Amino acid sequence: MGGDSPYPPARPALLIALLAAACSPASPPPVARTTPEPPPPATTAPPEVREVRAPVARAPDERAKVHDMLLRVSHDRGLPVRREVASRVLDRAGILERIRAHVEKEVPREAVESEGELLTALELLPPGYDFVEGTYALIQGRIAGFYEPADATMYLVDDLGDDEATETLAHELDHALQDQTFPLGPMLAYAPGDGDRSAAAHAVIEGDATSASLDVVAGSAFDVSETALRTLLELSGGASGVASPHVLQASLSAPYADGFAFVQRERRRGGWAAVDAALLSPPVSTEQLLHADKYAQREPPIAVPAPTFATLGAGFRAVDDDVMGEEGLRLMLEEWTSGVTAEKGAAGWGGDRYVLVRRVDGDGVRSLAVGWHAVMDTERDAVELAEILAARFGPKCRERAALGPLAWRRRGRDVVLAAGPYERRGLETRSAGSCTIAERWLAEMLQKKR
Ligand SMILES: [Zn+2]
Repeated sequence: MGGDSPYPPARPALLIALLAAACSPASPPPVARTTPEPPPPATTAPPEVREVRAPVARAPDERAKVHDMLLRVSHDRGLPVRREVASRVLDRAGILERIRAHVEKEVPREAVESEGELLTALELLPPGYDFVEGTYALIQGRIAGFYEPADATMYLVDDLGDDEATETLAHELDHALQDQTFPLGPMLAYAPGDGDRSAAAHAVIEGDATSASLDVVAGSAFDVSETALRTLLELSGGASGVASPHVLQASLSAPYADGFAFVQRERRRGGWAAVDAALLSPPVSTEQLLHADKYAQREPPIAVPAPTFATLGAGFRAVDDDVMGEEGLRLMLEEWTSGVTAEKGAAGWGGDRYVLVRRVDGDGVRSLAVGWHAVMDTERDAVELAEILAARFGPKCRERAALGPLAWRRRGRDVVLAAGPYERRGLETRSAGSCTIAERWLAEMLQKKR
């Protein structure tokens, strides 16, 4: 999902928290249910032509409304209108169908499934949870609209209330204006192994649209605190009527909340021109997104090689390796400890990489395991992370009947974690490893020179 996030939501990585509200505007903006979003990663080829159920927004008054709003957003955001923007109104099923088609075209099925497997192995999703379908259901319930760079068209859901429809229109038109000056396609393209960088760029894009649309509908985005926005996003998740695991809802909201905080900071510093500069040269990590000083200094993440897995024996191959990033780490830790402790624990992130490995046996049974290697900024930061892991998983290794062993270890600034192997038959899983193997695997990961 990862995107506007690529596919829908969630690199486990992406995630979010919420705090108490401190809503300054008299009437909070209708952020509800707007977890708009661009769908998945941008595409380079035009989408196939096909029938849509709902009418194209062609009624003269609809077109005039879109045009008027385009001019308003252009004025408030300070981006020129280079072209009119096509728009379509679809019902939720129609919107979801487009998103599904987009994801299937742009993102390898294996990558989407890997994401769910990672979340499962780390106990962020229950073992029998259908990640792909669950994510689509969540999106269908929460989406308000999305902008598709491939056909420069805005898609809006047909059942929004007036306020929500206005806010969504402003949000999506901001994406259209961004795209006309700073092509979004390349920024949102699925980038295997570069998930944290994509998440950072995605968040800037969403933060821009969230901030600009609040200027339009609430008078000024500066009347809305970042805390209030987080709370609204959280509430909108709860109100969507879809009971989804917290980590998925948090992942879906993270780009909006973290992106909004980033954009507000840039606007305070240098106005919309500073945001334009960030679209041209986005933060390369969510660490830079979240910390002004690291973005200002362009402090690069520590490059961590993908964990090796010879210990697991022959037949295993890597199906996915990627960077969780500071935002992803925070979202993960939020599932295991308090929001404050999670944020603090993630703030020491220096770099990381995980690998999901799989072996397919003759009878089609798949064995899966996850290895993760994080390098924290300081040893003190690593100790802090280790304390969270110890509280959640115990001091060394835990055998899990459904998911195999989970072991972790800290050495200096390095923290490594091994989860699995376990066997999967459909939605059923069961352990296929032991703590002996997991601990040998940790030793292998720690041997690796950085
Ligand atoms: Zn958006």
